Amino acid sequence: MNGQTRKSYRLILMGCLLTLSLIAFSQLNEPSVVRSNVWSCLNVRSDHDVNAVSVGCLASGTPVTVIDAVPFWRQIKFGNNQVGWAAKKFIEPLSPETAGDSADTSIPDSAFLTVHFVDVGQGDAIWIQTYDDGIDGNGKFEGYSIVIDGGPYSSDNSNPLLPYMESLGYHGASIEALIVTHPHTDHFSGAETISRHFSINNYYDPGYPSQLSSYGAFLSAMKTRAKNIHIGLQNFGQINWGSELKVEVLYAWNGDPQHVLGADNTLVNNSSIVLRIQYGQHVFLFMGDAEGKNRENDAATPRYVEKILLETVPGRLKANVLKIAHHGSETSSTLPFIEAVDPDIVIVESGRKNFSGTFLPDSSALRRYCSHNPNIKIYRTDQNDSQTARTERDAVDGDNIIIRTNGKGQLQVQAFDGGRPFTGNFCNN
Ligand SMILES: [Zn+2]
Ligand SMILES: [Zn+2]
Repeated sequence: MNGQTRKSYRLILMGCLLTLSLIAFSQLNEPSVVRSNVWSCLNVRSDHDVNAVSVGCLASGTPVTVIDAVPFWRQIKFGNNQVGWAAKKFIEPLSPETAGDSADTSIPDSAFLTVHFVDVGQGDAIWIQTYDDGIDGNGKFEGYSIVIDGGPYSSDNSNPLLPYMESLGYHGASIEALIVTHPHTDHFSGAETISRHFSINNYYDPGYPSQLSSYGAFLSAMKTRAKNIHIGLQNFGQINWGSELKVEVLYAWNGDPQHVLGADNTLVNNSSIVLRIQYGQHVFLFMGDAEGKNRENDAATPRYVEKILLETVPGRLKANVLKIAHHGSETSSTLPFIEAVDPDIVIVESGRKNFSGTFLPDSSALRRYCSHNPNIKIYRTDQNDSQTARTERDAVDGDNIIIRTNGKGQLQVQAFDGGRPFTGNFCNN
């Protein structure tokens, strides 16, 4: 590199830094509070650097106002208009905003949306029930059932989702929407069971051209069993599950053979439908198996779907409940993505499948959520399954998670470990 080139590189670099700092220093004004997880008190420093001089130490519960943000740090106003920087993980927003949408105040206190994350082993199986007000056809509170993926087991006596739904009185009922996030067997095989026992009004999948023969057979079956077929994002139309719900597809494979989505299994995972559902003040984000990096990449730089989401819909990612991507694999959950979603509750759907010595979730990926927010609640459908010498099959033991909300206040969570109530071990394992 000659001197001239070096000089122009330096100019470009300075330009970039200037732009970055302009973006980083946009003024915020968020009422917040020092979290209860601080050890004695929270050190406030003169700059966003652990070695910067301390300008104060705040007890947990102290009200502060966040006025600026850089990764991992927040600039806060505290006490008598004093200003300093503190570690972001110790600061809790007072009213967690849900992407700025005005809450639907027309939801009665008794109108609960229920989301079931069913233990199907290594795979996803999610059943969403909207509230039924008993008045059919008025466009809201229709008591719809929506199923996202069905897990890896397709026979009646092996798929836990089927008896789960039937035990709650849904024998033979209809399903408004069956969504297969992407054509991998741990997602679509169990959806086939469901289509044999329930009438399906709408079937959705991203339309990724999978060469799997089992998927071809599955798709043919869907075409005869579902009333309406929506294959490919361009055929989804406006999804309406009642006016009380705001449903958005934030991402699905768009048919473009782009190399930025990786190859082979990575590419199939990156075809996943990413769904955002808002009910009143609460937001659920369902990630399918969408990825954010390769296993060996560091977690600071998002790639693939997480990069696309951060670039295209940054304001739609903040969520109360995150169905973590790809069974909690190291290939998802990059730091900027976690920062943007900032979930209160993380749901991991996984089992005891041995992927050449690796079991999902990767503890490294879960630790990233805990370092982002030590108060985060992580619930898993493989809860304690590694404590005993479980096989892939007998680890499917009823570690179900049920979340209920009437769109305001606290989310109600019921979790199970082997069928027994489980209150959570969150970030302490
Ligand atoms: Zn999967
Ligand atoms: Zn997959």
